[in-house]
Amino acid sequence: MTDAILVVNAGSSSVKVELFAADDALASLLSGQIEAIGLAPRLHLRDAAGATVADEAWPQGEGPRDHRAALAAIGAAVARAAGQRRIVAVGHRVVHGGAALAAPVVIDPAIRAELAALTPLAPLHQPHNLAGIDAMADLHPGVMQVACFDTAFHRGHPRVADTFALPRAFYQRGIRRYGFHGLSYAYIAMRLAAVAPALAGGRVVVAHLGNGASMCAIRDGRSIDSTMGFTALDGLPMGTRSGQIDPGVLLHLLTTEGYDAAALTRLLYHDSGLKGLSGLSSDMRALEQARTAEATEAIGYFVYRIRKELGALAAALGGLDGLVFTAGIGENSAAVRAAVCTGMDWLGIALDDQANARGETVISAPGSRVQVLRLPTDEERMIAIETLRLLLR
Ligand code: AMP
Repeated sequence: MTDAILVVNAGSSSVKVELFAADDALASLLSGQIEAIGLAPRLHLRDAAGATVADEAWPQGEGPRDHRAALAAIGAAVARAAGQRRIVAVGHRVVHGGAALAAPVVIDPAIRAELAALTPLAPLHQPHNLAGIDAMADLHPGVMQVACFDTAFHRGHPRVADTFALPRAFYQRGIRRYGFHGLSYAYIAMRLAAVAPALAGGRVVVAHLGNGASMCAIRDGRSIDSTMGFTALDGLPMGTRSGQIDPGVLLHLLTTEGYDAAALTRLLYHDSGLKGLSGLSSDMRALEQARTAEATEAIGYFVYRIRKELGALAAALGGLDGLVFTAGIGENSAAVRAAVCTGMDWLGIALDDQANARGETVISAPGSRVQVLRLPTDEERMIAIETLRLLLR
């Protein structure tokens, strides 16, 4: 029997899993997901070579109906496929650690209760993360479980970046700018130390551009500000989320257009962003291929907001030494990277168009004052690293 660490990332409509060998190299052994939970679920697992080891699909209305059932199904599939590997720890992505939890923690009943108490701060995500923890406790009783937080990397923000200009009591009640995507930023900060050591101690903006999108200002390897705030709605426009919006618009919709909380939630989380602006799709690849005026405008808005935030975060850092693109769009869309960097010479950015088109790691021109990088992120590996660290403690 060899030891393994299971990583569980339970999102709103899918659960992703990855199994790692529990030693320093953390070789990936298995990965997969169950998608379209509650609709027409599909479960897929592949081994390290990419070969399918489990593949199941259920017709609409059949199969696992909710997260608990979906987690049980994928947990059982992993246990079958794991063969001679013994799961010695489970690491979970947990969206919210609140103001207090600034590092990964071993889950015990007190921590489980603390995480449940944070549900009002992330009602669309935290319940699924808790369901993941409960399902794995059922499947692997007695096995150490670790919670790794999307908020933790940002907990060192100075107060000015952590607060809103509301009466002071609101801050004490937890109405703060928590920031998210912290596992991705922590992974990139760690990778920077390996691939660009000079930048690891410098002033860097990381653009995590995926279906969810945010940017983070990192100085000396620590987050000092980010575009996401109290929730993962703020900042950049995303696949279906609006990003920054004048709060007066929300008051207007509530008072004069008959919106209630449910309708606003639907609008801001599910019908806005690239999808709302293009009227076509939330998917960047689809928009780049569509070439309609609306799709082009949606991409243009996305790029415009990234450029504005880049200027703002560079000001917060007091200058800029590095810019990193990561996540689905950041890693794969040379066109978006080029559009963000074009005309940014005033900030010291000069892109190497060829290196960018080829998707190399360093995509800035040799003389560029700001080094621009394209680095794949790996939130699951970051969770495995943190879980192993606690396992060996
Ligand atoms: P993520 O949430 O990190 O998986 O990123 C998903 C986003 O990345 C979607 O908008 C995809 O369309 C986008 N994406 C993935 N591959 C490409 C590609 N080759 N070109 C442009 N966008 C891509």
